[in-house]
Amino acid sequence: MAQILDGTRTAALVKEELRQRIARLGARPVLAMVLVGDDPASASYVRMKTRDSAEVGIEARDFHLPADISQDRLNALIDELNADECVHGILVQMPLPPGLDEEEVVARISPAKDVDGFHPENLGRLLRGQPAMRPCTPAGVMRLLDQYDIELDGARAVVVGRSNIVGKPQALLLLQRNATVTLCHSHTRDLPAICRTADILVAAIGRAEMIDASYVKPGAVVIDVGINRRADGRLVGDVDFEAVVPLAAAITPVPGGVGPLTRALLMSNTLEAYQRRLTASLA
Ligand code: NDP
Repeated sequence: MAQILDGTRTAALVKEELRQRIARLGARPVLAMVLVGDDPASASYVRMKTRDSAEVGIEARDFHLPADISQDRLNALIDELNADECVHGILVQMPLPPGLDEEEVVARISPAKDVDGFHPENLGRLLRGQPAMRPCTPAGVMRLLDQYDIELDGARAVVVGRSNIVGKPQALLLLQRNATVTLCHSHTRDLPAICRTADILVAAIGRAEMIDASYVKPGAVVIDVGINRRADGRLVGDVDFEAVVPLAAAITPVPGGVGPLTRALLMSNTLEAYQRRLTASLA
């Protein structure tokens, strides 16, 4: 029976550590969160991030814009936040309503304030192994693996999913830690056989419970990034938890696995942005 990798508990540890570090600063890092439109899921993510901010001592400033806002006006707000010395981190909640260009928005945020770690400069620095703001979900996965002392050096890792926000940076972060990484996607041939080579299998696909026992080598560590809602309203991952739990060595649940760490790492990136600014202003 697999060990459960408890993301809720690990996120609480990360947040407590951050709370103490921020309390010692004697100042509050400021995170600007931009929500465009009224998508209920996006609004709920922003509420959760506001709660996390309050918990650790970060000041969250919410900017709620109408769905029909023009690209120019959205850009102007980002420019304003980039220039505002009191703002340390900027997050624009995705997805944006139709008609707005997400790539343009991501590239417009100052790399130093890009707490999501999506800016091309931060992704480029990640590729080159330089210090950079790390995308929160894959960085959260790394934190969880470390929390449970999972050996990465020399391990065979398979990542399924090649998005810019999860799969690709996840593969790079595992590579940086000397795992031997295979990155799979929808054109990969014989996916189950490749997945069965994995000591560490990361599923970031967006297909409910696709990864069943036939994809998993006995004794593998299985990380389920997926968040999917079943027709009955149940939240499930990309991994068929019940089928995989008897043969994996360790597995993340959904909910309560990677999700809480993603939010905790956003707080961590905000503190990092604050500290980098402080260091730059003292230099
Ligand atoms: P994307 O839709 O951007 O990417 C999905 C990836 O999965 C693509 O690379 C796609 O391949 C691949 N894929 C799709 N179908 C298959 C298949 N049948 N076999 C192999 N590969 C396949 O999704 P995201 O990366 O943004 O998110 C992935 C999941 O993670 C979603 O469920 C999302 O909700 C969740 N998520 C969870 C977070 C958390 O905090 N826990 C944060 C972010 C996302 P191709 O490139 O060829 O199309």
